Amino acid sequence: MAKPKPNAHQLTRSLKMRIYPLTAWSEEERKTFYQMLNQQSYIARNIANETVRVAWLRSGKMPVPYEKDTEGYHYYCAKWPDMAPSNVNQVFRWAKKKYRAHSKAIFVGDESLISFRKGSPILLNNQHDYKLMEKNGSYEVDAQFLPSRNQKGEKQQNRWTFGLSNLPRDYEGAKILKRLAAGELHRGQAAITKKKGKWYFILSYSIPQEETAVKDLLDDRIMGIDLGVVKPAYYAFTYHGEIQKDRGCIDGDEIAEFRRRVEHRRQAISRQFKWSNRKGHGLKRAMEPVNKLGDKIRNFQLTCNQRYAHFLVKMAVKHRCKHIQMEDLSGINKNSLFLKYWTYYSLQEQIKNQAEKYGLDVTLVKPAYTSQRCPICGHIESANRQTQEAFTCQSCGYGDKSKGSYFVNADYNAACNIATPHIDEIIADYVKSHLELKKANNQQE
Ligand SMILES: [Zn+2]
Repeated sequence: MAKPKPNAHQLTRSLKMRIYPLTAWSEEERKTFYQMLNQQSYIARNIANETVRVAWLRSGKMPVPYEKDTEGYHYYCAKWPDMAPSNVNQVFRWAKKKYRAHSKAIFVGDESLISFRKGSPILLNNQHDYKLMEKNGSYEVDAQFLPSRNQKGEKQQNRWTFGLSNLPRDYEGAKILKRLAAGELHRGQAAITKKKGKWYFILSYSIPQEETAVKDLLDDRIMGIDLGVVKPAYYAFTYHGEIQKDRGCIDGDEIAEFRRRVEHRRQAISRQFKWSNRKGHGLKRAMEPVNKLGDKIRNFQLTCNQRYAHFLVKMAVKHRCKHIQMEDLSGINKNSLFLKYWTYYSLQEQIKNQAEKYGLDVTLVKPAYTSQRCPICGHIESANRQTQEAFTCQSCGYGDKSKGSYFVNADYNAACNIATPHIDEIIADYVKSHLELKKANNQQE
């Protein structure tokens, strides 16, 4: 069979599994294997840190971007002769990509220079750096780690074959692993990382979108998502422009609880720190828990966002919505409390990824006035939001209990507006015509 190649309509996913030694290995062989992994991870970490450091130095001195791959590659291979050259190349490229993604923020001082800590991944290229094999329902990986010759020019063991455990239990994941081993799906880069003393094998692969897209989505159905502080997200639906009763939100309790715990921990650390006079290495050690705390926050946000995105897109699919509409956050001030509260950008990215998987389209709409607009009569006025929680239309009385209406949650209301087709144009037209009306009135006076 011809090897499938990735194309524009493929989606990248990954599987994470535990590495375990083969039963046939002696105690000595096991020890050698883990020592080798530790050493390779240590080298990978040094290469990554060096890459970032050099990129930073160069970008400071010269206006030209750091592009000379080959020059860098040979330099790194010569400097770290105990890692297979193609693995060196993978780590080098990976670190450079990370640096580029953050360089803007680093330059303006929003972020400090990236530093790779313990447990840096050993990266393997998809081609011949590793092979995946199935043996009676269990899986083995054959991978290259060291150069075929050592520094003295003698031949040495450079490949290892190890087992995988903690295989995906879900039917879909297991099926994918089988197809990957059979060469039916395209295998991507693999990463070997150590976490809490355990080694993991993370395999990326691409899957054609035709396989995952939902077939019976309807073009005139839209899910609108409003991002907020009290609850991370509210959602509402419109079918051919009509607002549906079915709506909901994601509970933010776990976020609030997590923030409380983190704040508590941070205060405890800084109290400890205040009374000690540590400098140099001592200072570095004292700061370690704070750095780790940052990692913990990032990881927590990432997993929460993945879960939220998954839930939201599943809801859209359940309602057979072909479209998801969300606020365009690019206009929002970077320092606003809203963006400090939660990583909404990454949440939106996750939603886009999930939506793409199922064949949904994502449209970003301008957030201006979506919280002040009445979805029933279209009236826009800041007084429609008299409190943070409630929406009451000053024109038609929607949400006004004294006029016989029921309570309308302001965030649900914003989600309804965001779910409205062509909402950008509708609001722009309304604002424009009201400005003209005001002008005309002023001229009459
Ligand atoms: Zn109204």
